[in-house]
Amino acid sequence: MAGTTDFDLYRPAEEHDMLRDTIRALAEAKIAPFAAEVDEEGRFPQEALDALVASDLHAVHVPEEYGGAGADALATVIVIEEVARACASSSLIPAVNKLGSLPVILSGSEDLKKKYLGPLAKGDAMFSYALSEPDAGSDAAGMKTKAVRDGDFWVLNGVKRWITNAGVSEYYTVMAVTDPTKRSKGISAFVVEKSDEGVSFGAPERKLGIKGSPTREVYLDNVRIPADRMIGEEGTGFATAMKTLDHTRITIAAQALGIAQGALDYAKGYVQERKQFGKPIGDFQGIQFMLADMAMKLEAARQLTYAAAAKSERLDGDLTSFGAAAKCFASDVAMEVTTDAVQLLGGYGYTRDYPVERMMRDAKITQIYEGTNQVQRIVMARNLP
Ligand SMILES: Cc1cc2nc3c(=O)[nH]c(=O)nc-3n(C[C@H](O)[C@H](O)[C@H](O)COP(=O)(O)OP(=O)(O)OC[C@H]3O[C@@H](n4cnc5c(N)ncnc54)[C@H](O)[C@@H]3O)c2cc1C
Repeated sequence: MAGTTDFDLYRPAEEHDMLRDTIRALAEAKIAPFAAEVDEEGRFPQEALDALVASDLHAVHVPEEYGGAGADALATVIVIEEVARACASSSLIPAVNKLGSLPVILSGSEDLKKKYLGPLAKGDAMFSYALSEPDAGSDAAGMKTKAVRDGDFWVLNGVKRWITNAGVSEYYTVMAVTDPTKRSKGISAFVVEKSDEGVSFGAPERKLGIKGSPTREVYLDNVRIPADRMIGEEGTGFATAMKTLDHTRITIAAQALGIAQGALDYAKGYVQERKQFGKPIGDFQGIQFMLADMAMKLEAARQLTYAAAAKSERLDGDLTSFGAAAKCFASDVAMEVTTDAVQLLGGYGYTRDYPVERMMRDAKITQIYEGTNQVQRIVMARNLP
């Protein structure tokens, strides 16, 4: 794998490589052993959360001034990539902690940052992101959840759908309409706490993959929160939500890279062991070409993702299109590579006795969430240089 020198911004490349070694060792020892069980039972990967918190790797992006590790965007990508290589469901712990809290980091008041980033950094609370609704997915600005001002409070009512880690997270960034006449400019962002009166959750969705990551509806029934829980100014919530996605689509690309790398590594080992026609199937050129294509596409996706991470750190003007491109390309590659990995294992690949079918199921979501790959293409087309 290529070094990270070209994209390293603030620290020597060795630090990123050392971080990768650390997180890979942790993921192999403490996360991978539970990945199949977490998938099979559809249960939250508590072992992964405990291991990540114990090593301070559950929310590395939180700035040092708020008690976090202050990791740059590339380091965060590496953490998510390595966790996903072992267990995609578990990689949504660091990924969604960033997604949920980035609106506060980007646009929140100093008081909000102090109040909510500290517990996140310590591992006392997780953070979710609540934009989507039953009738507002790709067209997120069509949301119906409302927030109405009442003196020093806002009162929220509505349903958020598909919320990752809902019920497990303590904190939620919730986007809600504060002025229905202004569409996206009439949307504001708020921090809602799980313990706020009127907050409840739907049954876990029964999904194709990432079964260990709870996805639930969040119900807001007259949830009355202090006015200072608004993130940024009134009417800026949608812009903050989109700015957040510019940065976090790169973390979905990272997740896709990790899933694909896990599948490639497994398939590479398998073809050296499995014998047909009197020799390891890896001796056949047809198999070698498949592996070469998988590795080539994966490395291209990795380079694009790391370049996007550098842009995220530098706040480059073309971050929006790079973030969309990295997510779109890496997730398409992950789908291809994991499907090919199943093919390389033949009938065995199609069973739950081997990890590649889980990886193929897990890869699919990376083409869908944080904006489908059709939406990424719309974003790229709108931002053509
Ligand atoms: C497991 C899971 C976890 C999720 N986690 C979160 C979360 O934590 N927080 C959150 O807010 N949301 C989350 N989501 C929601 C996710 O971001 C949406 O599902 C996604 O944005 C697509 O919206 P939709 O499902 O309503 O599909 P739709 O918008 O209904 O799209 C259906 C199809 O139409 C296509 N389409 C739509 N509009 C266009 C267009 N203009 N041009 C071309 N094609 C188009 C789409 O690409 C797709 O193929 C999650 C979803 C899932 C499944």
